[in-house]
Amino acid sequence: MKVLKFGGSSVANAENITKVAEIIRESYFDDQTIIVVSALGGITDALITSATMAATGDEAYKQSLQEIEKKHIDVVKELLPVTNQSAVLSMVKKMCNEIEDICNGIFLLGELSPRTKDRIVAYGELLSSQIISAAFKSKGLENEWKDSRELIVTDSGFGKAIVDFNLTNNKIVNYFSAAGKKLFLLPGFISSNAERHTTTLGRGGSDYTGAIIAAAMDAEIFEIWTDVSGMMTADPRLVSNPKQIPVLSYQEAMELSHFGAKVIYPPTIQPVMSKRIPVWIKNTFLPADAGTHVQHEVLKEGSAIRGISSINNIVLISLEGSGMVGIPGFSKRLFEALAQASINVILITQSSSEHSITVGIEEANMQKAKEVVDAAFEYEISGSKVEPLRIEKNLSIVALVGDNMRSHPGVSGKMFHALGRNGVNIRAIAQGSSERNISAVIATEDVRKAINTLHEEFFETTNKQVNLFIIGLGNVGGKLLLQLQKQNKYLQENLRMQVNVVGIANSKKMLFNDEGVDLRSWKEQLENGEPMDPHVFTDKIIAKNLRNSVFVDITANDDIAQLYSKLLQKSISVVACNKVAASSEYANYKSLKELAKEFNCQFLFETNVGAGLPVIGTLNDLLRSGDKINKIEAVLSGTLNFVFNNYNGDRLFADVVKQAQDEGYTEPDPRLDLSGKDVMRKIMILAREAGEKLEMDEIENRSFMPESCMKGSVDDFYKSMAKEEQHFKQIYANAADAGMKLKFVASFNNGKASVGLQHIDPKHDFYHLYGKDNVVLFYTDRYPEQPLVVKGAGAGAEVTASGVFADIIRVAGN
Ligand code: ADP
Ligand code: ASP
Ligand code: MG
Repeated sequence: MKVLKFGGSSVANAENITKVAEIIRESYFDDQTIIVVSALGGITDALITSATMAATGDEAYKQSLQEIEKKHIDVVKELLPVTNQSAVLSMVKKMCNEIEDICNGIFLLGELSPRTKDRIVAYGELLSSQIISAAFKSKGLENEWKDSRELIVTDSGFGKAIVDFNLTNNKIVNYFSAAGKKLFLLPGFISSNAERHTTTLGRGGSDYTGAIIAAAMDAEIFEIWTDVSGMMTADPRLVSNPKQIPVLSYQEAMELSHFGAKVIYPPTIQPVMSKRIPVWIKNTFLPADAGTHVQHEVLKEGSAIRGISSINNIVLISLEGSGMVGIPGFSKRLFEALAQASINVILITQSSSEHSITVGIEEANMQKAKEVVDAAFEYEISGSKVEPLRIEKNLSIVALVGDNMRSHPGVSGKMFHALGRNGVNIRAIAQGSSERNISAVIATEDVRKAINTLHEEFFETTNKQVNLFIIGLGNVGGKLLLQLQKQNKYLQENLRMQVNVVGIANSKKMLFNDEGVDLRSWKEQLENGEPMDPHVFTDKIIAKNLRNSVFVDITANDDIAQLYSKLLQKSISVVACNKVAASSEYANYKSLKELAKEFNCQFLFETNVGAGLPVIGTLNDLLRSGDKINKIEAVLSGTLNFVFNNYNGDRLFADVVKQAQDEGYTEPDPRLDLSGKDVMRKIMILAREAGEKLEMDEIENRSFMPESCMKGSVDDFYKSMAKEEQHFKQIYANAADAGMKLKFVASFNNGKASVGLQHIDPKHDFYHLYGKDNVVLFYTDRYPEQPLVVKGAGAGAEVTASGVFADIIRVAGN
């Protein structure tokens, strides 16, 4: 014999019920087969809403009841041939009249007791099961309808009654044994107490009905037919790539459902487990899918984690106080008080100092818990030995479940590291003594991010989603978007990384798309975006609360650099092409680095020095591996190198500078390059990264620019440079006459930094430095005489974008 249960969405309308009939036709062989059905999808909720409206004096309940009636009548008319309809329609009418009568009574009294509520919701399953029974008959599936209330006996805990298994099992066995081999159809969810009042088994309880009958009858199998292809690695409404779990042990299924995997109602597993009846979760809409088998045997192979689930509406209650230390019985009294008030404890943690006990309960029980616990400890509270019960709200539990966890150390470390990296604060932790689950209490607003983070960490070896927010879409930004678009496939295939550009902005407009902006048409989309406001942009990043969020700043703007600290404090990594922050006062640079460390994220700015060249990365690698930087000599200005490589007095110096700007090598304001300021910033950043506490005004700058050129606007700058042509000619001639080249060199030696134009002779490393190239020589303990050299193009949109890209990958790969 088999028991099959079909849930609300499986029987939501005539079309779906027809699918159910086909499934049964295929699996039903002349054996005893028991079908349990839920109410039509949404009807239980609608009945509760109507009754609640009636109780609060809202006459709209009548309208709502009419809709319920219409839905059932429509299903009957669509499912049954006209000739068979009248008896079923009058049954529907009769029941709907009864519901209305009861609701009228509720309306008059202004009161809805749990007992009346159960009576009302029971009509959902009574209606669906009788309609489906009639429909099956008309489709040639002869069957016997039986009212489950006559078989399942419970206590009077209306709303979620406790089953009396002795009485219930007897009734089930007696009934089915006498009834012979056939197809049976029963309503799920409903039961009755000793006085024959209708009770219910709790929301989602039809699964339980099926399991109770399957266990009593020693069924060969219990099938749960629903709208998903089995138990998934996480709630498909929360994560985008859940994986179907082929096999689960009873224990795992129980833990997952207890911690919120709605596909199985938590009490369901117990009765079938005690009889070792296999459970098969199947998809009504994709019956060929394998589904999930729940079985007695523990599966040894596979990952440590089988699934992840979550429950919302949790509060933590804590009992604390010096009077608790060393005195036995406190926890016993706490749990007794909760138990007497029928408050279910979901999670317990006790601090090792025994100063406090913290318990997770449903939010619905919060008020009651406060009353009963404060009453139970009234004496200690009045004597200030114990504090009044402390309550924290708006919490949720996320749980990792897997039988193999105990043989895989490090699961919790991995879990907490992943959550920490994403700024998910953990309020409490509990690990079941079976080591089959680890659960963490977190803020409800973080649940989606936490579940997705954990899902990626433990299941998505194929895809890690990185969410980018990019500000500044000029030369470099545009190139970056192009590179991201081109590399997308490679990143997915080789780094298992799915890069989503969720937000983009220039100085005028900003645009967001949680699924990722389509990079082929970002320009047009951005034009139609919202007006840009950097504070709104950052607030949106924070509010979206997406995992692996990275903020990318490709501006040269002071105000944008001010935003970093707020983002880092939310564990959002910052990749800055913008040099403002790293070259601001030392205290600010340092505090940003420390925030990144404290909040488990990263603050990277490789392109601040040498554009795409791995300069900062190399320096950091040297330091991390134990080397010491003794001296740095570098040509760090692509612009100045370009200018001095292309100037020989034939063309105006000012024209060569203009060419550098037109080719995109200079800062937006070229005076920053020509004055040597940009090079000062760079050598300062390198010195700081090497551990030196250096400020701009401590760097010596032997500027070659006449004072007159540095006043007024950029236009004035070009004009006055043209006027000073003789000065530049002289500088060039002095070097050329001596057979030397001109290079603007930065050095850091013995804690001192300086920048200035130097004559370079042909034997020097810097002599053969062409175009816009940069070069950095690191003299270290390991490279004392022959320095470690990093050399290559040090300016240009394409290479700078690739440096930003590399930082993004570095952040994401962590
Ligand atoms: P039914 O009406 O068939 O009883 P439910 O709505 O009670 O169906 O349960 C199925 C739903 O459970 C799925 O549609 C899915 O949204 C939700 N769900 C939550 N967690 C999980 C999970 N881990 N695996 C599968 N489904 C889950
Ligand atoms: N119809 C009931 C509910 O919605 C029982 C069930 O569907 O399992 O809770
Ligand atoms: Mg269900």
